[in-house]
Amino acid sequence: MRIIIIGAGISSLTLATHLVKDGHEVIIIDKNTRPGGVMALYQENGYSFEQGPLLIGDMNPGEAMYELLKSIGVTLPTERCDRGLVLKDYAFIRPDRFQGKNWRKDLAKKYFPEDAEGIDEYYRFYEALMKIRYLSLQKPSLINRIRTALTFLSIKKYQNMTCQQFTEKLFSNPDLRTVYTGILADFCVDPSEINCFSIPFTNAETAFDDRIDIYDRKGNQYYPAFNYVIGGVQKIPEALGDYIEKNGGSFMYGRTVTKINVENGRATSVNLENGEQFKADIIVSAGGAHEVFYKLIGKEHLTDEYIRILENFRKMEAVFMLHLGVDYDPLQYQKQPLVYYYGTSDLKGATYRLRNGIYHDGQDGFLIFCDSYHAREFAPEGRHCLTIYTVAPNRLNEGSWEENKEIYADHLISLAEKYLPDLHKHITFKKIITADYYKEYTNTDFFSFGGLVPVDGQVNPPHRTPVENFYFLGSQSESNGGITPTSAGGHKVYQLIKESMK
Ligand SMILES: Cc1cc2nc3c(=O)[nH]c(=O)nc-3n(C[C@H](O)[C@H](O)[C@H](O)COP(=O)(O)OP(=O)(O)OC[C@H]3O[C@@H](n4cnc5c(N)ncnc54)[C@H](O)[C@@H]3O)c2cc1C
Repeated sequence: MRIIIIGAGISSLTLATHLVKDGHEVIIIDKNTRPGGVMALYQENGYSFEQGPLLIGDMNPGEAMYELLKSIGVTLPTERCDRGLVLKDYAFIRPDRFQGKNWRKDLAKKYFPEDAEGIDEYYRFYEALMKIRYLSLQKPSLINRIRTALTFLSIKKYQNMTCQQFTEKLFSNPDLRTVYTGILADFCVDPSEINCFSIPFTNAETAFDDRIDIYDRKGNQYYPAFNYVIGGVQKIPEALGDYIEKNGGSFMYGRTVTKINVENGRATSVNLENGEQFKADIIVSAGGAHEVFYKLIGKEHLTDEYIRILENFRKMEAVFMLHLGVDYDPLQYQKQPLVYYYGTSDLKGATYRLRNGIYHDGQDGFLIFCDSYHAREFAPEGRHCLTIYTVAPNRLNEGSWEENKEIYADHLISLAEKYLPDLHKHITFKKIITADYYKEYTNTDFFSFGGLVPVDGQVNPPHRTPVENFYFLGSQSESNGGITPTSAGGHKVYQLIKESMK
């Protein structure tokens, strides 16, 4: 079977890895020049920067990405990683000496003594959900079912609460609510739109201190954790890409698919911008859902139901990003390579601004990441790489990104200087990345940095589409954008394709 896959992002690479193993002829077409989509590095003037994911889940033995790589004979060196969290008046930075897995709980109680009871209750809730997750990953057994049911009973009362209701019930201080739900504003989701059971998983304590043990006494992984890939995240797509090529798959880089031809309800071929046409038995596409279905396929080939889904799902917004080369070591000031700085506790307001084209100019928060910490070769001798970014609307209500980007970059650098003194004097390289850059890079009209907003009840564009042998995958077909769900989409589409061949 000849299978054409549009896009060489992580979802497509996961799928292609399975398909070449089964001996199919796989052709991957991508407008960029290497595999990975947003996982590929940005490189200029001797510097390399991550332009997408920084922290990767599922890289420990037994977890999906680790196992996918292992199945092709690759084990990448990784390092557990953690992030700091700084609010205007409170800092949750891992202590120099490890103080046990509950140091954030103790610190929260110190900062917010009036909410001590709520904090204890939060951590009971957190541990219960972590236990349920852990049990769900074990071999099914009666004893596990009973343990799950009993654990669930202890938190059942919260099952229908939104994040907003839950944090308002437990915490009186809005800043404390932000400690546990601030990340939602990045996902462009209002805390009243998402169930509270999501909170522990977007705030795994292991993500704030990489010294927290993630294994149980028998050596089974108990808690989820994040990793850096030593040498950069692009090592993952490179490894998958090599395997695909060595096993007969091919890549057509620097080409853009402009049309998917459909005849009698079946996808037959793709057209490229240079006029070439390639036939296939099965076609799969990643990318923006609207761009793929309305521009490449055409509404006339879709069902009313599929169009309704396309009209109703919501995407995350974009980011405004600075890649900086610097001639000093940022870690002399910022103790962790990655720190989130939250500027507001008004998460509803932040989400509203984001969705309505109002850029907060860094005031609602940003993160600073030292790319060269886990990949020293990313910067020339004596230099370091910094990526500073914040979520930002795709389109500005007033003016364009192009005309405003320099001034917004200066503002972000000034805000960062509170934590990295004299930063502007140490800049040796600067690249400003706006939503427009990402739209061009990802071939989308609307850049959604993590795919779909994880709103409860939303129906995402399904992998199986109204066009019989055409499948959709990638971050705009999964909730909770990120490498883990997006790659899982590649596994799912593989299963669908396999079933269709029976
Ligand atoms: C700034 C940022 C930070 C992130 N941080 C994290 C993180 O810390 N952890 C995490 O897990 N995830 C993170 N993510 C999300 C994660 O990286 C993405 O969800 C995931 O990589 C998307 O994979 P994908 O398969 O959908 O493809 P993409 O990476 O979106 O790639 C799709 C590719 O297809 C190409 N393409 C599309 N249409 C066409 C066409 N018609 N013709 C030719 N080529 C086409 C595009 O040009 C692109 O190269 C982050 C993303 C961004 C942008």
